[in-house]
Amino acid sequence: MNAEIAFVGGTGFYSPDLLEDATTLAISTPFGPPSSDIIVGLVEGRACAFLARHGAGHRFSPSRIDYRANIYALKSLGVTNVIAISAVGSLKEKIKPLEMVIPDQLFDRTKLRSNTFFEDICVHISFADPFCRDLSQELYRAAQRVGCSVKKGGTYICIEGPQFSTRAESNAYRHMGFDIIGMTALPEAKLAREAEMCFSMLATVTDYDVWREEEVTIETVINNVNRNAASTQEIIQEVVPHLPITNGSCQCRHALRDAIVTSTEAISDEVSEKLRPIVGKYLK
Ligand SMILES: [Zn+2]
Repeated sequence: MNAEIAFVGGTGFYSPDLLEDATTLAISTPFGPPSSDIIVGLVEGRACAFLARHGAGHRFSPSRIDYRANIYALKSLGVTNVIAISAVGSLKEKIKPLEMVIPDQLFDRTKLRSNTFFEDICVHISFADPFCRDLSQELYRAAQRVGCSVKKGGTYICIEGPQFSTRAESNAYRHMGFDIIGMTALPEAKLAREAEMCFSMLATVTDYDVWREEEVTIETVINNVNRNAASTQEIIQEVVPHLPITNGSCQCRHALRDAIVTSTEAISDEVSEKLRPIVGKYLK
């Protein structure tokens, strides 16, 4: 069973009702099982996969998610386009709760996560532009067409969590010019690039982070999460018929070309077998 487009759902977005003829797949990977079984089905006639990033019942905190198993499992299904759905806080007055952001940059403040498939060989991919421009553009257009208030571009700062930021940290991030804050974009985006998949994000804003001196109640946040989930579902339905849009021509699909520094002879059979879905075509 294959899929070409995957949606990785975050907080508040656990099971899209829109997959037709859905099948649930339990996949194993050399990095362990993914966060949840993967649901594969049709959206507008296209084969799509859905993975709940935090697992069934939201059991994994951002630091405990096995991002490698998740991306590896999607790659094994033949997925070429990954759209991450993530709840975020806003660091700017003009980015309001219930709005959407398609970020174009990332800043990494995570500390406790395995962030590469390549522990046993030396690979340096380019990551200057962490999101696929073409996929992001298509996502932006889809969000506009369904009438969402959506901003294109912006920097997502990824913190380790699970605690939210202190007010001092939140203010520092604002001074550094960042736009939104969350806990899961990394290493997800790095691993998708290592796996040569186009990756973009639909960030749904739930609240202003703590920099804004107003009481944010959990009730408000949850309410906003639920309202965002409804818009997200509409955007997915709208974007799918327009994907994939690159036909393999964009840079994401060739990220490993010239990036593998270790010579082929120095890569053991065991390692090349383990990483076959990721690097197989370069190790022939
Ligand atoms: Zn791309």
